[in-house]
Formats: sequence, C-alpha cells, structure tokens
Amino acid sequence: MAGVAIPDRTLKFLPLRSFINSDFWHKYAEIKIDIDRLDDSGRPIYGTLALNSGKCTMLEVACSSFNAKYHDESQQGFRCKGILLNHNTLEYFKSCDKNMILRNQAVQFYHDLMKQESIQSSADLVCFVLLSFADLKTYKFFHWFAFPVPTELTYRHDDEQPILSNLNENLKITISQFLYQKPMPNEPFFIYHAIKGIKLLPDYIKHHNTDANFRDENMEHIYFCYYDPTSVTNSVPVSWHLRQMLTYLVITSPVLAEQGVKFIRVTGSTPAELQLSLMTIYLPKHVTDANDLKSWAGWESDGNGKYLPRVTSLNDSMAPESIAGNAVDLNLKLMKWRLIPTLNLAAIKQVKCLLLGAGTLGCNVARSLMAWGVTNITILDCGKVSISNPIRQTLYRFDDALNGGRPKATTASERLLDINPAAKIVGVDLKIPMPGHPIGQRLAETKEILNKLERLIKENDIIYLLTDSRESRWLPTMLGAFYNKTIINAALGFDSYLVMRHGKNEDNNIDAKTVVGSCPAGFRKIDSCDLGCYFCNDIVAPGNSMKDRTLDQQCTVTRPAVSNMAAALAVELMVSLIQHGNAPAYYRIPKSDPFCREQEPEGLLGIIPHSIRGNIATLQSMITATERYRNCVACSSSVLERYACNKEDFIINVINGTESLETVAGLNNIMSSIVDGNETKVKHCSI
Ligand SMILES: [Zn+2]
Repeated sequence: MAGVAIPDRTLKFLPLRSFINSDFWHKYAEIKIDIDRLDDSGRPIYGTLALNSGKCTMLEVACSSFNAKYHDESQQGFRCKGILLNHNTLEYFKSCDKNMILRNQAVQFYHDLMKQESIQSSADLVCFVLLSFADLKTYKFFHWFAFPVPTELTYRHDDEQPILSNLNENLKITISQFLYQKPMPNEPFFIYHAIKGIKLLPDYIKHHNTDANFRDENMEHIYFCYYDPTSVTNSVPVSWHLRQMLTYLVITSPVLAEQGVKFIRVTGSTPAELQLSLMTIYLPKHVTDANDLKSWAGWESDGNGKYLPRVTSLNDSMAPESIAGNAVDLNLKLMKWRLIPTLNLAAIKQVKCLLLGAGTLGCNVARSLMAWGVTNITILDCGKVSISNPIRQTLYRFDDALNGGRPKATTASERLLDINPAAKIVGVDLKIPMPGHPIGQRLAETKEILNKLERLIKENDIIYLLTDSRESRWLPTMLGAFYNKTIINAALGFDSYLVMRHGKNEDNNIDAKTVVGSCPAGFRKIDSCDLGCYFCNDIVAPGNSMKDRTLDQQCTVTRPAVSNMAAALAVELMVSLIQHGNAPAYYRIPKSDPFCREQEPEGLLGIIPHSIRGNIATLQSMITATERYRNCVACSSSVLERYACNKEDFIINVINGTESLETVAGLNNIMSSIVDGNETKVKHCSI
C-alpha cells in the first residue's frame, strides 16, 4: 500500500459517448411490433466499448445488440451488457423520473452481479441504460443513454508516474501478448501481478466473502490495468468506464478501502501503438451494498453539452416504398398488441387472391384486401372503363373512360400498384366463357382462354366471384371446386347482397386452427366439405341472362353503397376463414327450443358463416347455411367427374349448349320427380 499522505486532487472522469448504428432502430422496430408489443419491462441488449475511439470512449450499439448471444465480428471492442427501457408513450418518456430510473437500474445491476460467485468477464462491469420511446408511425426514436455511477464515491490520485524501465519492458511484452490475442479477450480490466503475470479480476475478487478479497495479497505486486480506448496522451481525466470498475472495487474489496491502489492505463489498439502509464488512485470508504448509494449520475449529454434526450429519424434512410410497406404492417400488427394476440397475419399476407371482375365489387374487394396486407392480387376483367364507371368503381378516373375506355383489369392493377408499389398485382384482360354464350368460330381462342383461366385458378388460393352475371360464375365455380380452392362469392341486388363461401374439402396446406367446441344445442353443423356453392340452390343451369333484357335489367342496378358493404364482408369472411381453415358453418334448427340461449361457436374474429344475405331496406342480415346439393350444376361430383374426363371439350359443349348441364348433374330426373311429387328437398335454414 502506498504509505504516503493522500493527495487532495480529485480524479476526474471523461464521460462515455454513445453511437447508435441505424440498423439498431430498424431491428428494434421489428422487435417492438412483433415481440415486445406493450411489454415495457426492459430488454437486455449488448453494446461494444469500441477500441481506439478518438477523444472519448465510445459505446456502440447495432442490430446485433439484440442477439441472445452477442458476437459481432464487425464490432471491434469489448462486449458489454445493458438494458433497453422503452416506454410506450412519449409523455411518460419525457416525464418519468430519470434519477430514480438510473438509481434503480444501477442498484439492480450491482445486486445481480453480486449474486454470482464472481464476474464472467471484466466487460460485465461496464453498465449502460438506454431509455427510449419508439414512435413507429413516424419512425422517430427518442432515446437517452446513461452509464450509471454513484456521485457519492470520489477518488483521489497522484501524478502519473513513469514505469520503471525494467518493469516497463516486461510489462509491455506481457500485456501485449495478453491483450492482442485473436479474438481479443473480453477484458477491459485485468491485473498485472509483478511475479505471477497477467491475472483476471475473478482470480482475486469473489462475491460471497468480500472481506477475503486481497486480504492475503502483497499489494506491492498488484497493478490494476484498464484499457483506455481514447487516443489522448494524458491519462487525466480518465475514462468513465474506469469509474464503474472503481465502484465495483469499493463494493467488493473492503481491504482496499481508503488505500492507494496502482493503476496502469493501457492504450493502443495494436501492439505497435501500446502505451502504458501508472497512477495511484485512492479509494473511498467501503460500501457494502449498492443500495446504500443514494445518488447516481451518468446521463449522456447531447452534442451541445446539455443533458437532454436525442431523436433519431429513420425516414431519411428508408425508401418510401419500404416505409409504406412497414406502415401497412404496423396498422395490422397493432391488432395483435391487445385485441387479437393470436391473429395469424403471416397467413393473410402470403395468400394469393384471384378477383374475377374489376367492377364495383372488384375495386372495393381489392382495396380491402390490400388494407389487410394481402400483396398478391390478380384482377381479371374483359371490360373497358366506361364514362359511368369511375363514380362507383373506385379504382378508375374520368380520363380512363375517354377514347373508348382503357381496359379495366390493367387499369385497376396500375392503380393498386400506385397505392402500394411493393405489392404484386397482375391485371388480366380476359372474358370468362359462359354457358349460353356460344363461341361460334372462336374455338382456338376459347381454348387458350380456358387454359389461362384454369392456370390462374390453380395458381391462386382464394377465388373471388365478383362478376355481374350468374352465368359468368359457373365456370370458375366448377374449376374452383375441381381444384379445391376457397371461393368467395359476392352478388348484388337492388338493395340486397349475398356474400358466401363455397364448400371446400379438407386440405393440409393451411396451418389453421379449427373452431373449437362441439355443436351447441339448437344448432346444426355443416362441415366445410358439405357446404353448398352459389348454384346449389338452383334447379336450372345458368343460361344467357342478358338476352331480351332492358337496360335496367342488363346492368347491376343497385343502391350505390351496397357494393361497399358486400365487398367488405367478402374480405372479412376470407380473413376469418384463413384463421381457421375449413371451418364448419352452423345454423339454428328452426324448431329448436326458442328459449335456448346457446350461441353459435365463434372463431378468432367471430362467427364464420356460410353465407350472409343482407338487405339495406330493412337493415337486416341473415346468416344462412346451405348444404352441398348432390345434383348441383357446378359442384356436384357428376359434373366434376365429367370435367375430369373431357376437360375443355366438356366446357365448350356446355358453352355451346350441345351438352346439357341439367342432364350431366342429373337434374332432369329430379325435375320429373318433382312433377311426380316425390322429391323432398329441404336443405336450407337460417338463423
Ligand atoms: Zn354447388
């Protein structure tokens, strides 16, 4: 021990500075949205005490700071542990008691440290707190670093002393061999023992019987070494991280209290740059518990020396498309924070949708799909934008109707890309072949169209039937049933709408949860594979519905906003279905106990009906469920088998009217049996 009088010079410290790589906030934005959500209990992070960092010691954080096991080759320096405390509101971030936060975190840090037998590495003694508020809507991050130290502990020091030349040479070689190993040891603090050479702090400092630490050591031989990353030649003021190590010594080593201890400052990031200087530092009184230290400091000052939080905006470093994509995701992911934590957004995002029809329904369905984060949309139509369209068909403008009108499908796809450039949108200008609309001489062309339509249906997961006639829905209904696709059908009346899903067999591709629970009393359950299609209620095959019709009968004459309602329901029904795969539908048995209060089983987003029939004149909607009809002209096994055998020839025959769907489906026989009064066909109930 130095037996001289303690000098009255107080040791001064040069504050640490922080450096935040922009990828740090990008990564944290993901973590906050997907994992932490509203959890503000604190997230452990890593930082790097950078080597050779100029005039002050720098602590860096990057996206790798969030790794469970921190190892980042690109970060040269000592790996330290800290905590990210993110507050959920800017108000709280601003108004919270910073002194209390710092003290609580520091006390907790030393308590956690002292619970271990000893430290794992001396970089564990560098402690930092990052307080933040992440405004994920504007990509602004308010943050404030702190490197806590107790203000009550002050240290005195003597002058820097030259290291005796014989010691110096030995010391340089020994330290050089230790420090510049590859990889560099994670030891910004270590001990040089004049006889035993390099030692680590845990060799001398244990946490369970602190009185024994250094008790039997000859302190003449012991030099505490600290790596100082700054390139400043004079060692005073010393780097802030040494202050954190000195706090540790005060708590763990009562033997050293009020004693002078030799410290060697080590600088240089390569052996050639290695510099050593010696100083004796006099420690204050021993402190048994960090909790006894009431006042802590260490908040980082801004560039102007003011103690204020800083703001980082990522907007400038992000492409506008990527900001838009993230913003869409954010709005959706916020639903998972409180309302529906188990909502499977990934399943919605990856779904491929084919929209047949780019009219009022097609435009509105496409918009709502995008709002749900669906980015893979193919929109098909054969029409051109007419002057009456833009007012209701929300993707078109007046200009699109000029000069004969632009093709609807490609125009709609361009507009959808204007809305979200990151989406994958395809417009297909194609007329769906229809029963009762003979092809005449256009056989080759029709075959090509059939191939294209079949391929589109095979490639997509969800098929939306949004055309304006009944017969245009037949072929996609039949093909969708054949390829077992999810079909959502929306049709409009003057003041009414029908939105339904078609029946679908089990498939193993969708990782979805089925609706839990057995069929409640008073209800009947229809499994997805037994649900009917749009044509299941009909006992006539589709024909040319445009023939002999006046203008008001040919166009979809509806109250203008009915389409918006039906389109919205069509999309929401799909989203519910995606969450639960082939969910069954339920209907209340009409003659069941009227006082029965049992409710229809619900999925994540509520009930998943088979069909919704709404009327805005009465402001009512009925949830109906219909079983698959064995003689259906579109989805019955006899029709599907006929298609399997004859493929496009069958379709062409149906279109040309040379093959009767009624006959194939066996409807003719039924018709005659109805005339005979034998058929009872009650399949349709509602709740
Ligand atoms: Zn059917």
